[in-house]
Amino acid sequence: MGCIMADIEEIERIGVDLFKLKPIEAQKKVYESYRNYLNQFFIDGKEKENCFEETACPICNKVNAKILKIFDNFKYYRCRYCDCIYNNPHLKSNFLERMYENGEYEEYVKQLTLPGKNIRENITELRKFEQVYSLFDKPGNLLDVGCGTGTFLHIAEKNGWDVRGIDLSQTAIEKTNSLGIKIEQTSFERYTTKDKYDCICFWGVLEHLNNPLGQLEKACSILNNHGVIVFEVPSSESMLMQYVIQNDFTPYRFIENARHLLFFSKKSIEIICNNIGLELIYLESNGLDLQTVLLNEFDENIIGRIISLQRLCDINLQGDHYRVFLKKI
Ligand SMILES: [Zn+2]
Repeated sequence: MGCIMADIEEIERIGVDLFKLKPIEAQKKVYESYRNYLNQFFIDGKEKENCFEETACPICNKVNAKILKIFDNFKYYRCRYCDCIYNNPHLKSNFLERMYENGEYEEYVKQLTLPGKNIRENITELRKFEQVYSLFDKPGNLLDVGCGTGTFLHIAEKNGWDVRGIDLSQTAIEKTNSLGIKIEQTSFERYTTKDKYDCICFWGVLEHLNNPLGQLEKACSILNNHGVIVFEVPSSESMLMQYVIQNDFTPYRFIENARHLLFFSKKSIEIICNNIGLELIYLESNGLDLQTVLLNEFDENIIGRIISLQRLCDINLQGDHYRVFLKKI
């Protein structure tokens, strides 16, 4: 185990220019289009009763939370027990699924996922793959839940892995299919398989689900012994979240009302491990906190300095997303 830890830690960090990955105009457009779309679920700023349901903390299941902030009518609470931040009440699953299958999510994929494809393919997804591969002696089989346009799977396949993907979005299905990768149009909840996997990835997926713990449990049940679950989720403890709470600031990315139902804490990761029988092998944060806060108001010439400050933030686990590597025990 010691040697595996050393390997993954040695993989170099990368600095990402948010505005090359997701141009500010595209972020704004997607944010506004979602805001309009989500208006249908409210009357005079109040939730329509048949569209929403109340929830306990999605991780520790306790009902002991403090209201933190209301973003465009969506209420977010911090769990006093596990420090998660979650949306309550949240949209019912059928409304969420509809959004990903054919509705507003297509816009997200077209505006924000496809344009940054080059950076993804050559930098961000490549590093993800290197991290995953560092935990294994040889290629195995891998399932990517919510695989999007299939860039990560494509890299894994080129490196000898047997790969599968699932996603709800029609655009995602078409793009991934065009790469010759096996993909199924389904939610993970409905997904059935006789296979067992060496690695199951949830890149930016768990925060979108009503029952993340149940999904992780299911993943664990189709995971080989000593298999690895990887997930990347927004952090409730990040510099960005603290800034958002303390200031009158609603960023175009990160909060994603109605879609980001949950922001994870270190304690919630510990609870996940204890409940499901997983062991934390590596945790890092990957944020775009500073660029998100400063938006496009700064001089482009200082982007280098901002990226190095972000690196400090990430080294201290303060970045806006946690990347988590867990091993089945
Ligand atoms: Zn909790």
